[in-house]
Amino acid sequence: MSSKWIEIFNNLLRYSQVALVTHVFPDGDAYGSLLGLKNILEQHGVEVFAYVEDKNSNGKFSFLPGYENLITFASDTNKLFSMAVILDCGEKSRVAGGNWVFEHSTRTMNIDHHISNSFFGHDNVVSENFSSTCELIWYLATRSSDLITNESATCLITGIMTDTGNFLYDNTSAQTYRASADLIDKNADIEMVKFNLFHNKSLSNVRLLGYAIQNLQIILNGKVAFLILDKHTMDRFNASYEDLDDFVAFIRDIEGVEVAVLLKETQNKKIKISLRSKSYFDVNKFAQEFNGGGHKKAAGALSNENMDNTKRLVIDLLKNYF
Ligand code: 5GP
Repeated sequence: MSSKWIEIFNNLLRYSQVALVTHVFPDGDAYGSLLGLKNILEQHGVEVFAYVEDKNSNGKFSFLPGYENLITFASDTNKLFSMAVILDCGEKSRVAGGNWVFEHSTRTMNIDHHISNSFFGHDNVVSENFSSTCELIWYLATRSSDLITNESATCLITGIMTDTGNFLYDNTSAQTYRASADLIDKNADIEMVKFNLFHNKSLSNVRLLGYAIQNLQIILNGKVAFLILDKHTMDRFNASYEDLDDFVAFIRDIEGVEVAVLLKETQNKKIKISLRSKSYFDVNKFAQEFNGGGHKKAAGALSNENMDNTKRLVIDLLKNYF
């Protein structure tokens, strides 16, 4: 398998222009793999267009090298590509920009580490045996002509650190540490990454967490922790969606809790379900009940119901397990 992947990756390096996209509501691994791969391809002389739905110069991941060069779909409607790479995205329906990338490219490559991946690309480099898509990009790049700069190393280590909960989760393997050591050898700016990920929380984020925790519900014999954040509350605290990344992990860590659930109302009033488990509960399988997916211990879905109905449905289903 791995030699086939290297062949696919080496082939990617031969395109003169490539489009890159990732998933909606991008996280550290999404931005890290997008900007990391962009920089690696550029070292090989490929012209790269990396697309996102929107850009925020004060956003949580705007510190990443190359962030300023991201392009919004809306500002570049006419471009056509022979190859587009979709990063860190398990489902076609979760690709940022909707059908944009499929309508603007003749061939697609799906590079991802989600167990729930549906192999929707023409080429699929997919394995759940990597902590993160960033670790997978590191693997591919170092087995081809390894042109990882300090900038791409900084991007890739960011995705590894966010998807492993800073090397805490059990997706952290010996290879994850080897990849990270190699990226540090290549001058990843690890201090800058640590500062921005863990020591620079916005005041609105901390205040919102305090408020939300007061309404935390512990149900089903203490096994499930449940948090709800509606749009009104998020607006009141001036919190962005990226600000909420760590809330669900925070409540999972309560003693006795096995599953943490966070229901967030998005800007367009949909309900995003975020799920985390501590040891044995398979949240990927649970998320599939709502057409979502992810990993065994971290998964999500988008509900078609309103907040009250989503809450009821989630709790009713969890009752079957606890
Ligand atoms: P989060 O709760 O941080 O949004 O997502 C946790 C994990 O589940 C991530 O790996 C994310 O990619 C995946 N995930 C989140 N929402 C969805 C979804 O709606 N569908 C699928 N297939 N995966 C999701």
